[in-house]
Amino acid sequence: MIPYARQDVNEDDINKVIKVLRSDFLTQGDVTVEFEKAVASYVGAKYAVAVCNATQGLHIAVMAAGLNEGDLLLTSPNTFVASSNVGLYQNAEVDFVDIDEKTYNMSPSALKDKLKTIKKTPKVIIPVHFAGQSCDMKEIRQIAKDSIIIEDCAHAIGGEYMGKKIGCLEYSDMAVFSFHPVKIITTGEGGMVVTNNKELYEKLILFRSHGITRNKDLMNNKDMPAWYYEQISLGYNYRMTEIQAGLGVSQMKRIEEFLIRRREIAKKYDEAFKNHDIITPYQDEKGISAYHLYPVQVNNRDRIFNNLRNKGILVNLHYIPVYLQPHYQNIGFKQGLCPVAESYYEKALSLPMFYSLTNENQDIVIESLIKELK
Ligand SMILES: *Cc1c(COP(=O)(O)O)cnc(C)c1O
Repeated sequence: MIPYARQDVNEDDINKVIKVLRSDFLTQGDVTVEFEKAVASYVGAKYAVAVCNATQGLHIAVMAAGLNEGDLLLTSPNTFVASSNVGLYQNAEVDFVDIDEKTYNMSPSALKDKLKTIKKTPKVIIPVHFAGQSCDMKEIRQIAKDSIIIEDCAHAIGGEYMGKKIGCLEYSDMAVFSFHPVKIITTGEGGMVVTNNKELYEKLILFRSHGITRNKDLMNNKDMPAWYYEQISLGYNYRMTEIQAGLGVSQMKRIEEFLIRRREIAKKYDEAFKNHDIITPYQDEKGISAYHLYPVQVNNRDRIFNNLRNKGILVNLHYIPVYLQPHYQNIGFKQGLCPVAESYYEKALSLPMFYSLTNENQDIVIESLIKELK
């Protein structure tokens, strides 16, 4: 069996987690703060807020943006359902902007067209850096000056755009990372929101922990005793444990090694499929992908998918356009909304892509796929 993705946990990772298990704090301790600092300084952001998964991260990010009933959230259809579900959690309206036919990311020109046809300014826009390649953030920021932009970086830690790390927030307000085991680094379940804005940061902290504050400046009642705390808004318990954060701290030390191997695997696939009827992932020269995924386009996708799976090559598909899901159809979305995303989906196939994929197994994937084309 060759999976499409898997984590890599080594002895250092295990020892760090054991150390946390023997320590005084299993949650709300220093290791979570250490992990937040490690991610913030790596991507070049000022503040970071660790949560249990990226879905929670996206949720508190849209809450911090003030997204509520009557507001509009725009995202890409070529994503995991979480990117738009968080809008529904807030009873907001959600809509989808079609993708670019080369990068499969939110198309800036489709965004421009969308903003012309809809009557209101979106409160939030969530571009998704699909497969680890950055969206054209500079363009998106220029087109959407009046919206809060939250980057979905679930695929993209370590990727670069215009010479800087994805998540540096040059053209956005917040960015959210995922540490699910299939992603670039893992904490089991885990996520993180980064921002450079102190006000947003304070809201994120508040929504992560029930809406409760011990910050006297934020309280309604002044001059209260030391034990006093206030719940000043409705929040959740979205806190990451120290155990998860310990794994995260250790995995962050290995991130360059992970990225180098992923890029090596991508390069080998690129070369191998050059003269075959396979469209390999286009790389925009403005950035460098983190290669969470290696999505190709093939004819007869369903037959190829089944035959490879039957051989133990666990290829996958990213993504069914979100609005084609029955839940989204039930709330009124129609086929045809994003034609480029729909035609991409018809031929999409994600090949095995992970740090510990061996050369021998990658050769098996390559040979088996090429055989399917004949
Ligand atoms: C994985 C993923 C998420 C959700 O991440 P979790 O940590 O599993 O909640 C959100 N968006 C995208 C694009 C993802 O791939």
